[in-house]
Amino acid sequence: MTFTDLNLIQPLLKAISDQGYTTPTPVQAQAIPSILEGRDMLAGAQTGTGKTAGFTLPLLQLLNEKKGGKPHRKIRALILTPTRELAAQVGESVKLYGKYLPLKSAVIFGGVGINPQITMLRNGIDILIATPGRLLDHVSQGTVDLSAVDVFVLDEADRMLDMGFIRDIRRVITILPKIRQNLMFSATYSDEIKTLANTLLRNPAEVEVARRNTSSELVKQSVILVDCKRKSALLGELIGKNQWEQVLVFTRTKHGANKLTEYFQKIGITASAIHGNKSQAARTKALDDFKQSRVRVLVATDIAARGIDIDALPHVVNFELPNIAEDYVHRIGRTGRAGCEGEALSLVCVDEADYLRGIEKLINKKLESRIIEGYEPDPSIKAEPIQRGRGGSGGGGNRGGGADRGTKTGHKRDGGRHEPKKYPSDGRRR
Ligand code: AMP
Repeated sequence: MTFTDLNLIQPLLKAISDQGYTTPTPVQAQAIPSILEGRDMLAGAQTGTGKTAGFTLPLLQLLNEKKGGKPHRKIRALILTPTRELAAQVGESVKLYGKYLPLKSAVIFGGVGINPQITMLRNGIDILIATPGRLLDHVSQGTVDLSAVDVFVLDEADRMLDMGFIRDIRRVITILPKIRQNLMFSATYSDEIKTLANTLLRNPAEVEVARRNTSSELVKQSVILVDCKRKSALLGELIGKNQWEQVLVFTRTKHGANKLTEYFQKIGITASAIHGNKSQAARTKALDDFKQSRVRVLVATDIAARGIDIDALPHVVNFELPNIAEDYVHRIGRTGRAGCEGEALSLVCVDEADYLRGIEKLINKKLESRIIEGYEPDPSIKAEPIQRGRGGSGGGGNRGGGADRGTKTGHKRDGGRHEPKKYPSDGRRR
C-alpha cells in the first residue's frame, strides 16, 4: 500500500514524500480512510506508531476541502494533548504535512506568556493544538472562539486522565458545537477511558495497532538485577563501554532525575534532565540538545517524557521501574519506533520486585534478566518498601512525592504504597 492508495491530495503527498515516507504505517492505513469519511474514531495506538500523521493528514485534507471562503478564519480543528512537548510536536507535524496547503495553525500551552498567544488567536487560525489548562485560560478570558470546531482530536487520552485532566476535558467538550467529528487516541484502555469514549464518540471506527497493553515487538527488552546504590555506576559504565550515544533514561522522581544528571556530568557523560520543575525554556532546550546529539543522555520523569518523539531512538533505560505498570509500556514506546529496532533496559533492585511482576503481568511476558559481573546484587540486602530516602538515583531519592503532577484527581500514581515511612530501626541506608 502507498499513500496514493489512501486518496490523499497532491499537496499532502508531496509533503509526505519530502519526509521520505513511502509506506503508510498500520495506524495510518487504517485511520486515514475512516477519518476522511467523516467518522468518529477510537484508536488504540501508542507514540511511535505514526499516529500523529494518521490523524493530521486526513484532518488537513478535510479542512482544505471544506474551506468556505469565510472572511475571518475560525478554529475548525482542535487538538488537545496532555503535555507541552507533545503539543509542540503535534504542532510541528501539522506545519510539516500542511506546508503546501493554505491552512494556519497555532500551538498554545502554559508556562509561557499568554499575550503572543492572544495575538495569534486574534489573527485567525484553522487548527489549534493546545494543552487543556491554557486552553481553558483563553476560554475564560474570551480570547479563543471554539464555536466553529468541526473536528476534535483527543490525543493520548489515557495520559490526559492520568494527569487529572478529565474535568478540563469535559469542560472543553461542553463548549464545542454539538455536531462535530471526534477522534480519540489512547495507548491503553482503562474503564475510565471506555467511559469517556462512550460519552464522546458516536459510532466510532475502531483502530487497534499496538495490541491492548502490549509492548512493542520491535523493542528488545531486558532486565539487569543490581543493587539500588550501584545503579548509577553501572549505567555510567554501560554507556561508556557500549558507546551508547543517545540514551533516554527514566527515573521515578524529579529529584532522582536531577541527581542522576549531576552524576553523569561528574563522570564526564553529557546529560540533561527534563521534568515538571524545569521551566518550559529549559525543557525545550534539553530536548533539543538531546535530539541534536549535543548531550548523550536525557534523564526524564514519566510525564515530562510523554510523547517525546525522537527518530530511531536506540536506547531507553529504566533507571527505576515506574510505579504504574502502564508507564512501562509508554516509556519503552520511545524506542523501536516506526520500524526501527530499539533496546529497552531496566535496572531493577530488590525493592522493585513487585513493580517488575506487575509489568510482566501487564505485558503478559517474562522479561529476561541478567547480572553483570562486578555488580552482583548483595544477597544480604532485603527488600524495603520504596520510600523517601533510599534513592537509587544517587541517594536521597524522593520516591514517593516527586512525581510530576498526577495526583490532581486523587489518582494513585504510586498505588498508595509510598507514604513516607520510618526507616528500620537500624537506620540502614544503602
Ligand atoms: P508518532 O507515532 O506520530 O509519534 O510518529 C512516530 C515517528 O514515525 C515520527 O518520527 C514520524 O516522523 C515517523 N513516521 C510517521 N509516519 C511514517 C511513515 N509512514 N513512514 C516512516 N516514518 C513515519
